[in-house]
Amino acid sequence: MAPILELRRLVKHFPGHQAVRDISLVIPHGSFFSLLGPSGCGKTTTLRLIAGFEEPTSGDVLLNGEIVNQRRPYERNVSTVFQNYALFPHLTARQNVEFGLKRHKAPDIDRRVKEALDLVSLTGKESRRPAQLSGGERQRVALARSLVLQPDVLLLDEPLAALDPKLRKQMRIELKAMQRRVGITFLLVTHDQEEALSMSDQLAVMNEGRVEQVGTPEDVYLRPQSRFVAGFLGGVNWINGVGIRPESVRLNRTAACQGTPATVTGSVFLGDCVQVLVRLATGENAVAQLARADANFKPGDAVHLSWNADDEMTLPS
Ligand code: ATP
Repeated sequence: MAPILELRRLVKHFPGHQAVRDISLVIPHGSFFSLLGPSGCGKTTTLRLIAGFEEPTSGDVLLNGEIVNQRRPYERNVSTVFQNYALFPHLTARQNVEFGLKRHKAPDIDRRVKEALDLVSLTGKESRRPAQLSGGERQRVALARSLVLQPDVLLLDEPLAALDPKLRKQMRIELKAMQRRVGITFLLVTHDQEEALSMSDQLAVMNEGRVEQVGTPEDVYLRPQSRFVAGFLGGVNWINGVGIRPESVRLNRTAACQGTPATVTGSVFLGDCVQVLVRLATGENAVAQLARADANFKPGDAVHLSWNADDEMTLPS
């Protein structure tokens, strides 16, 4: 069976700027896939090429094995949840959700709309207009409006960016559970590495219009193939050319123990953990992220850094 979505050597040039430079990706049927990268790396442009809002300079977009470059957005069975949700302000939640179905003269509209509203837990709020809903509820209407169309691929452009941090964390779990329930392929664009790591089956890390690495969250976090990927996904200490994540570093006080000698320069309290800052004999700085109970160090303390060999990331610069 052909993958639900494939990008083949996709390129998009804007006047004076190459936004997408030769991207090839295969997105498996029913997966939760993310494009993760810093602002301006070409994520949204890639999504717009898939949706048909932009035309590729070269390369192909394939849906279910068919090249769809020439198809208009409404001729592709994909649906987009935009960052600002783009709801109709004068329509109720229910009317927003049924809008696309009515336009397509779809059968069984009442049942499908009810199911979609149930799925996103909006039952009881169907008659409210967007202004009468919270940010999280508006987001649910936008999701229901796309899901009700039963697209082959649901494209989500930073869908959680407008929510407060607590709601964002809750919605991550809900979004992932929703994807599993409906079985539709989700393609999420985000610059938030926690978001991509926590929800994706696979993710592509992008940089300057290119894909640097594709893999599971564990692959890209624990086995990054470039310094860019290592640094974008989390903190890294570079010690003698080897990368060590702050949470992999242990600090010991006893001079007798093996390890890299260093001096504590400060600490940062993060609530659930503490980052202890140290300076190595070479003058390099490093960070150890420790549980509160293990972080009883003060500036000037002499320490030794150690870690498990398995946690070393050896990468080309
Ligand atoms: P963000 O996370 O900030 O949304 P992004 O990774 O989604 O960033 P894109 O929106 O794809 O990035 O933009 C990639 C680059 O292409 C940027 O430098 C942007 O300025 C440029 N770009 C995007 N659209 C156009 C356009 N219509 N004309 C010219 N340049 C564009």
